[in-house]
Amino acid sequence: MGVVGGGQLARMMGEAAHAVNVHLTVLAASPEDAAGKTCDSLVLGDARDANALARLADEVDVVTFDHELVDLEQIRELGAVVAVRPSASALAFAVDKAHQRRRLAAIGVAVPRHLIVSSVDDPALEPFLASLDAPPVVKSARGGYDGRGVTFCASRDDARAAISAIEGDAVIEEHLQLLGELSQVLVRDVQGHVALYPLVTTLQREGMCVETVFPAPSDFASEAAQLASRIAEEADVVGVLAVELFVTTEGLMVNEVALRPHNTGHWTIEGTATSQFANHLLAVSGQGLGATTPTEAAVVMVNVVGADEPGSALAAAEIPGAHVHDYGKSWRPGRKLGHVTVCSSDVTSAHVRAWQSARAYGTRTREA
Ligand code: ADP
Repeated sequence: MGVVGGGQLARMMGEAAHAVNVHLTVLAASPEDAAGKTCDSLVLGDARDANALARLADEVDVVTFDHELVDLEQIRELGAVVAVRPSASALAFAVDKAHQRRRLAAIGVAVPRHLIVSSVDDPALEPFLASLDAPPVVKSARGGYDGRGVTFCASRDDARAAISAIEGDAVIEEHLQLLGELSQVLVRDVQGHVALYPLVTTLQREGMCVETVFPAPSDFASEAAQLASRIAEEADVVGVLAVELFVTTEGLMVNEVALRPHNTGHWTIEGTATSQFANHLLAVSGQGLGATTPTEAAVVMVNVVGADEPGSALAAAEIPGAHVHDYGKSWRPGRKLGHVTVCSSDVTSAHVRAWQSARAYGTRTREA
């Protein structure tokens, strides 16, 4: 299997690959990329270079993705020479937020009220901004991740400036008062069988996931499962699909969909019978799916996002029950460097220990 992109998701696919009989070749920009240490072989090159993609295709039977910062036309062409899972048309869901919002709204999935414009001159912009009850949020349709490409605006002038700074389409919506955020991860195989992971709550700061907690309140479980299953069918996903949900006073709304293993599924490495990475590889390689049952009553995952000073991964691992994952990246304040997971019979205990461990590692505080 080939993976486009050499980040931490490809690194964790590499850790899972041999147990599911997959030989992994990663297209990475540099041997120093996070996946360099775990994959079987590397092809060096850029994810948007057609020649580099062709070199990857030469080596493998099937191609999948570490990120969605790809050129869809190139991926469509790649699909003519090698199996690509998820396919270019499925991937369009994740590559373009405007396309995603249109498709979701078209199938009747609740999404935040929004407008898509390609410039500030769009005649619909002023009436839409005037109709908002809260300050606007402006999102770049393409190229954003971890909050990059999302601007929380204080005023309509700010919104216009943010739209002008975006190349291509912008999605504008209202800054919602969120009661919480959830993530539903599932995996779908080539025959269309779906395995749902348990729903988790997520905490986000500045657009970056801070922690996930299993179990989530049971009130939303069946609605979230139905929504995600419907989206998986609609997009014809093969592999992992993550659906990020807003909890609002008006009910659940889909914020974003990703077609790859997702940060909000990292807890499944120790927290479920088959991790999202193993299941992604099983699905993409055409095998049957593994069970997604939880291993413990409670599982908390905390991201290690660099604070001003590095801590110690060794000290983090000394916290009882802490599973420490280091992505092998150089330390930089604000950078996602690893994560810690604790499974327990008790959610408070898992939460406390996961944070003790992540703080020892050098993560920012929960509030930062
Ligand atoms: P990215 O693609 O960079 O992950 P998202 O669109 O998922 O960006 O937004 C990241 C986070 O920002 C969300 O998880 C949420 O916490 C916050 N956010 C995004 N849009 C809104 C909104 N309309 N109202 C309130 N919070 C929002």
